[in-house]
Amino acid sequence: MDKPALFEKKFATLKGMIKGSRQMVVLTGAGISTLSGIPDFRSAKGVYTKKWNEISVERLLSIGYFEQHPEVFYAWAKEYWYRLDTFEPNVVHRALALLEQKGYIRGVFTQNIDMLHKKAGSKKCYELHGSAEHHHCTMCNAYYPYEQMKAIVLKDEVPRCRECNAVIKPDIVFYGENLDRNLLSIAYEMFSHADLVLVLGSSLLVQPAANLPSYALQNSAPLVIVNAQKTSYDSSATLLFSDLQQLGEALELYAQGLEARKVLL
Ligand code: NAD
Repeated sequence: MDKPALFEKKFATLKGMIKGSRQMVVLTGAGISTLSGIPDFRSAKGVYTKKWNEISVERLLSIGYFEQHPEVFYAWAKEYWYRLDTFEPNVVHRALALLEQKGYIRGVFTQNIDMLHKKAGSKKCYELHGSAEHHHCTMCNAYYPYEQMKAIVLKDEVPRCRECNAVIKPDIVFYGENLDRNLLSIAYEMFSHADLVLVLGSSLLVQPAANLPSYALQNSAPLVIVNAQKTSYDSSATLLFSDLQQLGEALELYAQGLEARKVLL
């Protein structure tokens, strides 16, 4: 956590940057949801730090493994993804939703699949790695919502399509799968035209999301990073904050006091 005097100084600069920006874009990672109680991947208590029944989470979340062992994937996901609806958005999610509502955010790009930005009220939220909210049949593409799948997974069954009996997969980008091309195009456009970028709680290690801030830097947009650990972009950042709770609380208060302005396109 930053010392109060230093934090106040840096936050005063950030407020000026937010007020002056017209094209602010935000990139969020698993770090922000740790404040809601959902573990991230690469922190000391992250999901990658322990194996599940001798299988690494990276392997569990690869598309090849899912195709061969959907029952193992769903047994893991039962304890994790199919509990995500029980978590609540935190002060960072709320602050971002409020800033958007008041016309200060062009887009929030998240690597999280936990649905918390939308639950907090963000509308311009782009889920780069998909979301646990939606599911499709791997054969005929029939649609299935989270609640329906959760009921099946909690009974220790693998969800299968009512139409063709093939395995159903959550609309989450597994390792070995590509991100949605349309979504990436929107991201490249927004980051290229951004006049301010906030990166909140991401290790900036997972591509292609980790590359997005470089599109803004090419255009000399200021970059603000909030992370307890160092990232490879720190030397390019205009401002660095270390604690998401501290930043989130200040940001929410600030957003509450802002006048609403004309909503950006
Ligand atoms: P990551 O785990 O690689 O990085 C999280 C970062 O947040 C770390 O660098 C950590 O230092 C920082 N952090 C954690 N708590 C913090 C706090 N209180 N204050 C300041 N910084 C804090 O996560 P990532 O960059 O999003 O990367 C990767 C992958 O993890 C993505 O593919 C994402 O889909 C997946 N993931 C998502 C969730 C989720 O949906 N909530 C959870 C775990 C992993």
